[in-house]
Order: sequence, then C-alpha cells, then structure tokens
Amino acid sequence: MQNEKLFFSRFVYNGEFINRACLKEPFERNGFIYASDARIMVRVEKCLCEDSYNHQGGPEKLPSFPAPESNYKLDLKELIEVLKSIPQYETVAVSGKEAECDECEGRGEVEWTYEDSNGEEHFDYFDCPICDGKGKVKTKEYEREERAIAINGTSFNAGLLQTIAEAMNDIGLSYSVIAYQAKDSRPMLIQLKKGIDVIIMPCIGVEPCRELHLKQE
Ligand SMILES: [Zn+2]
Repeated sequence: MQNEKLFFSRFVYNGEFINRACLKEPFERNGFIYASDARIMVRVEKCLCEDSYNHQGGPEKLPSFPAPESNYKLDLKELIEVLKSIPQYETVAVSGKEAECDECEGRGEVEWTYEDSNGEEHFDYFDCPICDGKGKVKTKEYEREERAIAINGTSFNAGLLQTIAEAMNDIGLSYSVIAYQAKDSRPMLIQLKKGIDVIIMPCIGVEPCRELHLKQE
C-alpha cells in the first residue's frame, strides 16, 4: 500500500486521555491492521500492508463492521469541494442544545478564584461574562473541522470526512463506496477499496452546514 505510514497516521489517536493510549499506534488483529482515534476506525487486510504491526496493541474489544448492503459512490473531488466550501472559521446562529454556553456549560455562572491581600485564596460564583448569566448564546464561532456535513440525510463530522479524503488521496483513490449507511446507532461503512474499510459514527443532533446526496452505482 502506497504511503502506508502516512495513511495509518491519519486515523490514530493523538490526544492525552490515558485510557486511549492503546490507540496511539496501528495494531494487528485477526488478519487485519487497525487504526482508530475512537471516533473513526480503519481496517486493512494484512496482505495489503508492507510494514509489521503490534499484535498486543489496541483495545480489548473492537466495534463490529456492518455487512455491506448498499453501493453509494463517494467521489473524492466532490467531497473535497464540499469541505473547501466551508469557511475555516465561521460565526453561525445556534439553537437548542448547541446554543448552550461553552464557558459556563449552560449553567449561567462561573467560579472565580482570587487571592486577598493576605495571600489567601477565595472563590466565588459570578454571572458568566460570555452569556451574561443566561447560560445560552445566540451565535458561536466554529472551525471547519467541528462542523457537520449530511450524507444522504445523516450528519457526519467534517473533520473526520476530511480524514477520509486525505486517506483516499494517500493511497491514490479517486472514489470509494459507502457500503452501509449509518442507522440504528450503527456506523457508516465506507469501502475505500477492496480490503480497506472505514467505519465512522454519525454526529447526532448537530445541524449540518452542507449536504451531499449520493447515488447508488
Ligand atoms: Zn456562559
């Protein structure tokens, strides 16, 4: 597989959570090489890989990949165009759960710590300065990676769809196939090519800013 290291590096976990440390590297299991950041997972048949991978790595339990049942064409150019059409930063109107103030987590008050003249620490609650004590805001500034794109009516995180686009580009694919559309809390299955599958969970309750309508082949 061309650009194998780069390809797997797109999917591994790069954060600080200790309980996800087992996801920092790709790992081998049952004839496949897996890589995941706990939001997206790729599985590649071992025979397509040149490097060798850790047999002991990865979480104890792996999510199951749904059986293929559809054949929607996901075109790389089309996906990149949609991603590029979203501004890197944009201030948008928010409502419902999304309108909860991030600063005070919707509580309307924030805890302040201060030191008095004797050097003693005190803390007190004040109205949140971001939402003026309301707990809700009318607009938020979002990065492109935080937005959602609907694929045939279901929202997916734009940052993860960008990961898929980059990974397709790494291994020289101009299109891939959505073989299972997310439903009933099951993930979407994308067959990048024969032997290389990706699963990605939808983002529930996030209003999509763009839509992709794909056709069956
Ligand atoms: Zn607030």
